[in-house]
Amino acid sequence: MSKLTNNERIDEAVKRYKNELPRLVKALNRILKNAEADEDLFAVGKINLFLSICYFDLGDRSSIFPYAIKAVSVFEKLGNHNFLPRSYNILGLAYLALGNYQLALSTYNKALATIRRRKRPGLSKDTILNNIAECYYEMGEYRKGNRIYEDCFRVVRTTRPDDHVCAVIYGINISDCYESCGDYQKALNILDTIKPNCDVLDREVLVWGYYGRRCCVLYLLGLTEEAEQYADLVIDAVTTNYDSYEFHRDFEKIAAQEVKSGDFVRAQRFADILKKYADENGNTIDMILSKRVQANICYAKGEMDAALGLYKELNVLYERRIKEENAMQYEIQKNADTATKEVSKLMKRVRDSEQRAQRDALTGLMNRSALTSVAETFFNEAKERGKCLGGIFLDIDYFKEYNDTYGHAAGDEAIKYIARQCMEEETSTVKFFRYGGDEYFGFILGHKEKDLQALALRISEKVRASAIDHVKNPNGQRITVSIGIVNIDLKKSDDSVLDIIKYADRALYHAKDRGKDDVFQYCVLDNSEHEFRRVCSDEKQNR
Ligand code: GH3
Ligand code: MG
Repeated sequence: MSKLTNNERIDEAVKRYKNELPRLVKALNRILKNAEADEDLFAVGKINLFLSICYFDLGDRSSIFPYAIKAVSVFEKLGNHNFLPRSYNILGLAYLALGNYQLALSTYNKALATIRRRKRPGLSKDTILNNIAECYYEMGEYRKGNRIYEDCFRVVRTTRPDDHVCAVIYGINISDCYESCGDYQKALNILDTIKPNCDVLDREVLVWGYYGRRCCVLYLLGLTEEAEQYADLVIDAVTTNYDSYEFHRDFEKIAAQEVKSGDFVRAQRFADILKKYADENGNTIDMILSKRVQANICYAKGEMDAALGLYKELNVLYERRIKEENAMQYEIQKNADTATKEVSKLMKRVRDSEQRAQRDALTGLMNRSALTSVAETFFNEAKERGKCLGGIFLDIDYFKEYNDTYGHAAGDEAIKYIARQCMEEETSTVKFFRYGGDEYFGFILGHKEKDLQALALRISEKVRASAIDHVKNPNGQRITVSIGIVNIDLKKSDDSVLDIIKYADRALYHAKDRGKDDVFQYCVLDNSEHEFRRVCSDEKQNR
């Protein structure tokens, strides 16, 4: 059986459990553990995004935030512009649910900025604009909110005439804004415009939302009889299905109008709906809404004791709500800090293991996979700026015999010792790699020939001077290395990185042929021939 990637597992789980959200949450949490262990940052971000969307769809408002903030944090760090807009959008919804409209607004604006640059999957511009407008509405800036809602509405009606859901949502929102500004007739007109969309809608909750909205406006316009018909439609529908949270504020308004016109029976029906919802959910805001409606009914009916009792309970609830809001703002800060720390930790782990993958375990020098990327960087820089790119190849002499004589562990120590001599030469323009077994390779960018020669001699002499015994080495019974170097001026040459490695390798083998423990340079001659020149310090010449 082939093993699925984390990403494939996420997509599969989302497909399989899209209608069973609690199971999807469980499945995503399982994959999350795996993704964290694999240091698969992209999958971690994607799971957090989907979990936050699940909690939003489940109506679990307080759980959206911690996941959304992590998704944003991961995708910002990864610079992933495909998933960033959706992550910002869901984080905005989380702030909205927590009552922090300013933060919601700035987060939606970030979503808008990321989506503007290019079309992004899973999120249209008008969705974000609609959410931005909602922030303005919540902040009491109805005119500003309405302008944006109307833009969304226009976009949807002209570009997606079959998108009845968006048309109805935006229409309901516009009507709400007009109502808040006192423009009741305009509020009704827009509802008339979306009536045909509403008639073909298969999302019942939205249809009831529409009825409730229309009912509010009709009452406000004094069209009581028609309003009552819509009120009855809402009561019938909502009594059988409670998933209509978004419209509870309208229910309060309707009940208030009915109380005003002395229709206590209908008002009580709305109060009952709100009470049932509040009892089932135990949410402070729902409880406030429900008790406020009931208190007003009692007061209007002259049931003063009951009204007074309810007002007292309301006072307690208001205080509780203020405490909750303070705690929520604290939670926002705490969750944001934790998410940032967790993501940074994960990023560090990813970076560390990337670095480990680039390093040879025995010596700590970079390995051959790192060589490729350094080679590319150095080569491009040398080409663009007309610099020299040098190569240096080292190989331990008679190393098989060394292992045979002193054992493999001692051999390892010798390999490490020589690696350290190479490492000591490293700068931003000198990089060494363990090429294999007892071979080392270095790239030297932008050095003069004599500097490269001096570097090679320094290593060769330091190895010799270490005086590590090697009785089978005829060159002084100590550990020694043979070295081949080359320095190519890329301004004048078409040679590739591979050519540079090849030339240094040839110079190394020339050194081996000539008795080892020596440094030779591969030199390109004018007639495109080449020769090997011995690189020699004064001290060695006298040897
Ligand atoms: P020459 O002077 O021509 O280079 O001869 P040599 O004996 O050094 O031969 P060669 O370079 O071909 O052999 C490399 C040896 O290095 C073979 C292998 O046993 C040993 N070797 C490779 N990797 C390691 C290692 O990680 N640790 C130890 N101890 N030995 C290793
Ligand atoms: Mg060797």
